[in-house]
Amino acid sequence: MPATYASSPAEKTQENHAALNRFYPPLTLDKPRRSPMRELISTVLSHRTTHADEELAYDRMLEAFGDWAGVLAAPTAELAHAIRTTRWPDTQAPRIQEILRRIKAERGEFSLDFLSDWTTEQAMDWLNDMPGIGLKTASLVLLFNFHKPVLPVDAHVHRVAQRVGMIGPKVSVEKAHQLLLEQLPKDALTLLNFHKHNYWHGQQICFFLKPNCARCPLKGFCNYYQEHFGPATLEALAATPAHWDEAWGKLPH
Ligand code: SF4
Repeated sequence: MPATYASSPAEKTQENHAALNRFYPPLTLDKPRRSPMRELISTVLSHRTTHADEELAYDRMLEAFGDWAGVLAAPTAELAHAIRTTRWPDTQAPRIQEILRRIKAERGEFSLDFLSDWTTEQAMDWLNDMPGIGLKTASLVLLFNFHKPVLPVDAHVHRVAQRVGMIGPKVSVEKAHQLLLEQLPKDALTLLNFHKHNYWHGQQICFFLKPNCARCPLKGFCNYYQEHFGPATLEALAATPAHWDEAWGKLPH
């Protein structure tokens, strides 16, 4: 039975997953978008920074210092200058160097490949122990690069989950990682699609200001929609597009 406004959070999560799977292109697990080291450091750089500025900072950093050994050995102020397009370069520069120093000291090389042989819990604990690496960053690396059954929750996923009612209105981003994961099958392909589809949805339709509910396939069970517009009418449901239309824009990476 389709979810309704009165459905449980778990029912809404499952319906969200099914509805966004139909609406957005499906993703596969075969090719990580970046190497594990790049995913880790880029995610640190991306904190409250646009994707374009994060990429610029990453490129300038490698251009200036050559490789991870060069980034580690660089004067910290020069590294901060190279990554100046990020939000807090003076904080991120020493943090990146400490992460690199610990990886090299513990593993003897700048590589995270060993994590593929570790259990999800071991790998999560190890990453979370790094300075500035929270649940979201660790989950992104473990899901995208090692196909571990974890769920990254960023601001977009969190906002959609709260508005729909998959989690309560006061649930933090950190707590949402656990609550949403409990409501989903523990397989990496499902979790990758759930994460990316909700990320796209938050970026492209369920905006922080003025969500574009007319285009949204979740309006039939979304708490926010019901509170602002009343229950979705048959006309509103029938007018909802069946799929993401590329004419509206390119979906982000
Ligand atoms: S119906 Fe509106 S508020 Fe609810 S998820 Fe869709 S865009 Fe967001």
